[in-house]
Amino acid sequence: MPNGEFGIFFAHCYNKKDNYKTENIMSKTGKIGVTTENIFPVIKKFLYSDHEIFLRELVSNAIDATQKLRTLSSFGDFKGELGDMQVSVTVDKDAGTLTVSDHGIGMTSDDIEKYINQIAFSGAEEFLEKYKNDANAIIGHFGLGFYSAFMVSKKVVINSLSYKDGAEAVRWECDGSPEFTMEASDKKERGTDIVLYIDDENKEFLERARVETLLKKYCRFLPVPVVFGKQQEWKDGAMVDTDRPNIVNITEPAWTKKPSELTEKDYKDFYHELYPGQDDPLFWIHLNVDYPFNLTGILFFPKIKNNIDVTRNRIQLYCNQVYVTDSVEGVVPEFMMLLQGVIDSPDIPLNVSRSYLQSDTSVKKISGYITKKVASRLEELFKADRKEFEQKWDDIKIFIEYGMLTDEKFRDAAMKFDLLRDTEGKYFTIEEYKELIAPTQTDKDGNIVFLYATDQTAQYNYIKAATDRGYSVLVMDGQLDSHFVGLLEQKIEKSRFVRVDSDVIDNLIAKEDRKAVDLSDVQREILVSVFQSQLPKVDNAQFYVNFEAMKTTDAPIVITQDEYMRRMKEMAALQPGMNFYGMMPDSYSLRVNTENPIVKKVLEASDKALSGYVKPLLDSISSNNDKIKELEGKRTDANAEETKKEVEKLQSENSSDREEISKLAGDYAKGEAVVGQLIDLALLANGMLRGEQLAKFIERSTDLLK
Ligand code: ADP
Repeated sequence: MPNGEFGIFFAHCYNKKDNYKTENIMSKTGKIGVTTENIFPVIKKFLYSDHEIFLRELVSNAIDATQKLRTLSSFGDFKGELGDMQVSVTVDKDAGTLTVSDHGIGMTSDDIEKYINQIAFSGAEEFLEKYKNDANAIIGHFGLGFYSAFMVSKKVVINSLSYKDGAEAVRWECDGSPEFTMEASDKKERGTDIVLYIDDENKEFLERARVETLLKKYCRFLPVPVVFGKQQEWKDGAMVDTDRPNIVNITEPAWTKKPSELTEKDYKDFYHELYPGQDDPLFWIHLNVDYPFNLTGILFFPKIKNNIDVTRNRIQLYCNQVYVTDSVEGVVPEFMMLLQGVIDSPDIPLNVSRSYLQSDTSVKKISGYITKKVASRLEELFKADRKEFEQKWDDIKIFIEYGMLTDEKFRDAAMKFDLLRDTEGKYFTIEEYKELIAPTQTDKDGNIVFLYATDQTAQYNYIKAATDRGYSVLVMDGQLDSHFVGLLEQKIEKSRFVRVDSDVIDNLIAKEDRKAVDLSDVQREILVSVFQSQLPKVDNAQFYVNFEAMKTTDAPIVITQDEYMRRMKEMAALQPGMNFYGMMPDSYSLRVNTENPIVKKVLEASDKALSGYVKPLLDSISSNNDKIKELEGKRTDANAEETKKEVEKLQSENSSDREEISKLAGDYAKGEAVVGQLIDLALLANGMLRGEQLAKFIERSTDLLK
């Protein structure tokens, strides 16, 4: 298994002392030292899902053996020729074997006895029960790298010659029962061959294409060349072997080099090697730490085109260049799952369960380090070339907002380079923007009001109303913006974020106490009823009529949607379990501008036509209400029944009076095309005029032109 992969669960136990000599290999049989349980049924029984990782384990052992010899040689402890140091993987379909060969340090019979035969377990059964679906965890726990070969083999042979002076070659064989045989071998070349006799259920591992895919997956960046057969070429209608070795890996991938040795092209080439067929990355961060843990890697900011890219091309985790997984949850903060690239660390306990990983303190430190590094690199990029940063902003915004929403440390750092874009396409930092708008957009209570739009086309009218007043409007049209607005509100002192269409502009940024609506009770009643009678029927929407004394030049009617309710609904849409809000209809206010000359005309005309009828009805309603109050005041146990009856009678009179008012107003408004026309124009301005309502509007407009 790769160095360091055993993490904290390192569990090799060597109980027995070496009890025979290297030099003299007598033919020997014996039992593999398992203290609790025989490992073979365990391996076969539990590790059914991840069979393929046997190849990773064996090839990494071969690489380790090769590198150990290199190290010995560089320290002068091995004086012989290193010679060919490639690792090779071969399949022989006829013989049914897969062989991994190296020219590394090899093993003596003593070594085999010590490292292969003696395996001891502690608490094996319990552990296995817990992690039975996680081959990685089991292999890691027991240091079973080599034994994973038995997941796919009916027999395994080790044929090895140690680098040590005068070593004798040794052949070890085991058929999957705890018994093994060990005898002298005639192997002449230094190194080890591990020969797997693939069992019937795993014949796939004798297929060239399958093995090549696995080597590409697990061994693509191993530090020693791994040869798998010959390169092939197309000749006379078939693929045939050439005489060139087929090397499956890149031994010095970009992340193992120093940033100063790499050009921009090197990074991009590496990115495309990792994720073929993707656009160039936006930028990258080269990670390199050696204290308090070891970690190298390169993280790329991708140009995200769709969600499929996100789930498919994920960050890959390596351990000394051995591919381990692309499930990096826990190792990198959640929001960085949107990034791509490679993280390589021998210090991450890769073989333990995921829940353990997430609570591990060294893993937390790593995650914290990556966050810090990413934030400072972003700040650097922002400072070094703001223009370029702005150009890339729209692509990286989702990532940064996600980070700020989910990671407090990142949020604090990102407040410096998080950008806001206004409707004119200009970018500002939060601080810059706040300074820009504070003089004009502070309301009478001292709050700075941030106006924003989510759709520049649909909300054009509202944006214009705001910019006409000299205000600035932000564009908040990102997927996460409805959450993000809430975060900014919390983070920026005395600030309020309001969508431009959530109220009339003078209410959004209320300056001094504004002119009050000047209507008598009767006028108010008449006008409400007249407009209410012509309200549209729009699916899943409710309309309410209100009055606002806006400017005379402002539109006669403005439709607004309450900020709070809208945000709740938007958040509900993103979060399951908030259905209550999601199911409520959208509610809109029809703000009738009582200062607008056309509205004034409607008011005068309707007042004239209706007040003679409406006033007595309103008077009767109000006197009934007084009576009801009085009756309720005098209610006792004795007269309760009688009071109830009288109150009900008065209430029913009131409802019929109200109906009467509505009917009068409705009949009147029907004859006054201008009322319907004003409402429809407001709907039209909001893109809400559709279907039958639109057809009627066109018909009415045409009539008006006659
Ligand atoms: P680990 O690699 O975690 O120690 P393994 O079961 O994979 O566990 O291997 C056990 C030991 O056997 C190794 O540590 C190494 O000493 C020895 N070994 C395995 N494969 C080879 C090889 N190809 N060449 C030399 N030694 C090997």
